[in-house]
Amino acid sequence: MRGLQVLYPVGIDRNGLPVEIFAERKYRVQMRKTPREEFINLCKHALDDLEAYMVGLMKTLGISGDYQSKYRTDSEEYRKLTQWSFMELWKKGLIYLANRPNNYCVDCNTTIADAEIEYEELPTYLVTNRFRVNESKQELLVATTRPELLAACQMVMVNPKDTRYRKLVGKTAVVPIYGKEVPIKAHKSVDPKFGSGVLMVCSYGDYNDVLMFREFKLKEVVAIDLDGKLTAATGKYAGVAVKDARSQIIQDLQEMGVAAKVEQIQHRTPLCERSRTPIEIIPMEEYYLKQLDFKPALKRMARKIEFHPDMHRQILLDWINVLTTDYPISRRRYYSTEIPVWYCSKCNTPHLPKPGKYYRPWRDEAPFKKCKNCGNTKFVGETRTFDTWMDSSLSPLFITKYLGNRRFFSLTYPATIRVQGKEIVRTWLYYTMLKCYQLTGRAPFKEAWIGGLGQDSQGRAMRKSLGNYVDPEPVLARSGADAFRFWGASEASLGYDFRFSEERIAGAGKFLTKLWNTCRFISSFPQPEKAELTWTDKWMLNELGKLIEECTKAYENYDVFTVSNKVREFLWNVFASNYLEMAKGRAYGDSATKGEQEAAWYTLHEVAKSLLLLLAPISPYITDYAWRKLYGARSIHLERLPKPERFDITEKVSQSILEFNAQVWKTKKDKGLALKDSISLRIPANLTHFEKDLVRMHHLTK
Ligand SMILES: [Zn+2]
Repeated sequence: MRGLQVLYPVGIDRNGLPVEIFAERKYRVQMRKTPREEFINLCKHALDDLEAYMVGLMKTLGISGDYQSKYRTDSEEYRKLTQWSFMELWKKGLIYLANRPNNYCVDCNTTIADAEIEYEELPTYLVTNRFRVNESKQELLVATTRPELLAACQMVMVNPKDTRYRKLVGKTAVVPIYGKEVPIKAHKSVDPKFGSGVLMVCSYGDYNDVLMFREFKLKEVVAIDLDGKLTAATGKYAGVAVKDARSQIIQDLQEMGVAAKVEQIQHRTPLCERSRTPIEIIPMEEYYLKQLDFKPALKRMARKIEFHPDMHRQILLDWINVLTTDYPISRRRYYSTEIPVWYCSKCNTPHLPKPGKYYRPWRDEAPFKKCKNCGNTKFVGETRTFDTWMDSSLSPLFITKYLGNRRFFSLTYPATIRVQGKEIVRTWLYYTMLKCYQLTGRAPFKEAWIGGLGQDSQGRAMRKSLGNYVDPEPVLARSGADAFRFWGASEASLGYDFRFSEERIAGAGKFLTKLWNTCRFISSFPQPEKAELTWTDKWMLNELGKLIEECTKAYENYDVFTVSNKVREFLWNVFASNYLEMAKGRAYGDSATKGEQEAAWYTLHEVAKSLLLLLAPISPYITDYAWRKLYGARSIHLERLPKPERFDITEKVSQSILEFNAQVWKTKKDKGLALKDSISLRIPANLTHFEKDLVRMHHLTK
């Protein structure tokens, strides 16, 4: 409605963990116990059903994307682009393989990125164990929330300023149960007030352990395996799941008299965003994409991109600031884009194929004859896939045809705007900026619109596990898309969270009924091409002009909250209660000249047209229907937003009209008079131009 051409393809993100979990539940299968090909087909099936449902909802909602050029992130074309990007970044030296401690979810059986971790205060046990100082045999109390990792303890730490332990630094401590000797060292990260002020460092209870192992070059002990069970390194607890092993060892420590104290505490625990399982830090080899080197460039870009609202830029900046590791991009899963690598079966050298095709190394033959390192002719295909954000981060390059059509790309990249929720700033927004910058040297979009979260009626995030999730289909069936959209637009100012409320959706429906009735009333009058306007009409059109200016400005800022609320306020409080009452008699020809009557008709239609146009982007169905009925067969969505017309009416006069009307109504009410009863009240001096309409409206007598 601004006369611009818009590229808005509908994209369906169909990769990754959520898809697999959905398929596992839907078909009651387990990925690891299902042949890969078969599991992939089940995922596709599940996705097709889900996609049909989602696209149906999008159409019902009136989302005006281009469904003809709908794309899927699991299509061959899209995955080709993802694999190409990997090869390209590999060439640039931005991807490397490394064995390092990794966030791992034992339920999802995969590495996860920092961005997918949520923290929650959960109850756990703080166990204070009696260690022994090897040299002096004195007792040393060490508190930990991870007693099951005693076997992986490689150091004991105290704060260098803690006078209680100063003499012990440099000596060794004996780990209970396992009897091994570990050094006692000082480090400023130890909080003397936590537990006994002595900390055990093991691989890996938390992220601080990772830092300490690195700093003190300690030898890693792998105590937890990829299924979340303790390893042989823990002795009798081998094969036991972490949580059970913890209870068992606490009991053992108590029985052995090692545990001096066991207390329940609330502990800030990292959880997998999807399965809500506590994260383990497990050393493993993964592919990494460099991101730390790009922090300055990304921050510069973040400051240049125009954010709507501006405050949400900070979520991105905060995230960039806290990044301390590169991005692990490989996942041990099935339904995602395959990592296009084969390894020499002899020397293990990774080989990347030529770009331009979609590769599935887990089942395709290696496209090489000989190992470039040792000449061996046998290769083993990579079985891992990419993290799903490796795909979705490329959507701006896919839709602008980066690989296929340079001319189209140069016309459309960078995209104008990214529209998304604030809960995926750390992932979708961030990774898109990172990868598109690494590949093109430019930002992927000029502006970002970051919406708030839809919450339940009590203000909680909607979660399957809480059962507070609202299925949109029946809600839409009850309210219709227009009321639902108007509610969505008018509920939260740009970027703020909002609560689901069916009552308030019904309220939005009432407003649309009012709009409908207003248009129907106006449609009973003919529509003159032009008219000799009275002052009342000029006042109304001037107010309308102000509304159009405000709404146009708001739309330019993608702010539908202001538009919906301003239009609602205008229709109820200015137009319906004031102008309509002032001009109704004239419109019916009651003691008015033909010219005055036509001026009322003209103004009524101008208001109706403008309100429909202003609301068309928010409530597309009702406005389109009314527009076609009243103003021609062409869709309202092909029209332009209205142009404001302004007249010489001061703010003061406008205020006086509203105040005078309110005063008359109040006086009549106080005197017990009906609205149609006559009354004697003096019209304010600055409203003499409006006298005729005011007298008729209020039945004023001299
Ligand atoms: Zn080789």
